[in-house]
Amino acid sequence: METGGTNLKDQTNLQENYQCIGCGAEIQSEDPNKMGYLLASILEKKKIEGDFYCQRCFRLRHYNELQDVQISDDIFLDRLSSISEDDAFVVNVIDIFDVEGSMLSGLNRFIGKQPFVLVANKVDLLPKSVKQNRIVHWLKQRFFENSLKPDEVFLLSANNPASLQALIDRIDREVRQRNVYIVGVTNVGKSTLINQLLRHYGGDKEIITTSDHPGTTLDTIRIPLTETTGIIDTPGIIKENQLAHYLDRQGMKKLLPNKAIKPRTFQLNAGQTLFLAGAGRVDFIAGERAAFTFYVSNETYIHRTKTDKADDFYLKHKGQLLSPPYLNQAVNFPELQGRDYQLKPNQDLAIAGLGWLTVNEPVQVRLWAPKAVQVTQRESMI
Ligand code: GDP
Repeated sequence: METGGTNLKDQTNLQENYQCIGCGAEIQSEDPNKMGYLLASILEKKKIEGDFYCQRCFRLRHYNELQDVQISDDIFLDRLSSISEDDAFVVNVIDIFDVEGSMLSGLNRFIGKQPFVLVANKVDLLPKSVKQNRIVHWLKQRFFENSLKPDEVFLLSANNPASLQALIDRIDREVRQRNVYIVGVTNVGKSTLINQLLRHYGGDKEIITTSDHPGTTLDTIRIPLTETTGIIDTPGIIKENQLAHYLDRQGMKKLLPNKAIKPRTFQLNAGQTLFLAGAGRVDFIAGERAAFTFYVSNETYIHRTKTDKADDFYLKHKGQLLSPPYLNQAVNFPELQGRDYQLKPNQDLAIAGLGWLTVNEPVQVRLWAPKAVQVTQRESMI
């Protein structure tokens, strides 16, 4: 039932309709992660002066530092369908540790026939022994399977400027003819990458950002590189089922890796179970004795037990020994849901955001992952 009346937010929107002169977003003081954010106290002051830069554009102008804002999948695809009308070159940034979770399967829909390249970021997280050519080939295959045909694949670490050179060379070539759009879901490292590009192109100079579509709230930021073209940063797309949304800061620190993963191998018999902290569980249902290798954060606690004791064990220890998620965390963690898989030796089972496992024998497993978090059976990455 309607409760009637407008809330404070609606009233604010009705009365104050200011736009950022940098990116065109409507100014708001409610959510720092959303477009057009400006601290309420500054907003009050600026009303008198009349010039509105949102916090993001302000930082970009004055500190050459980019802050990400977020937007939902649908809104994003809808807004950016205009890319297909522009002469655009699209750079899609993904996280190599969470390929499926950061893949934008709807990319074709909004870029139309425009060429796009893939930037697989955080390559520093992969074990040192990994061959980069193989990963590039593997990524192309994965994207082809989803009807996406990247023109080129760049493996890099946005936090390592030297690894960006090949991408920068390509951008230099493209931007002479058309705009370069950078797109990606949140947490893939898009802001880190843009900040590096700003440093590369801007140096100490002030970068003047402009609204790409004046008068609209399409929250893109343009970094002009020629008279008519530039790099266009788009809002980070929120994928609703990302593991990170269900963890607090402490939990993310534990489960999301920040250095090269050291694979961990366990020799298991059918009837044994491994817990991945409190966020996942693998029951070995049937098959010969096999080696299970896990590519998860080195900080993720892995606990072995018997499958017939696993339910009780989980109830007793979740949130404590089996954590994250922690007992007292403010965010609700979805319950674990079991899904059955027949896994072959050349395949991975990937839990979006948590990592993946692979085996050396054909096995039947029940994989427990938070409800709604994507699980993918795929050809082995490594
Ligand atoms: P955005 O939401 O896509 O803009 O992502 P951010 O740039 O805010 O980065 C998300 C997280 O990934 C942060 O914790 C970054 O420190 C981290 N990150 C970004 N680039 C890299 C990288 O190349 N390697 C690693 N290991 N972490 C990175």
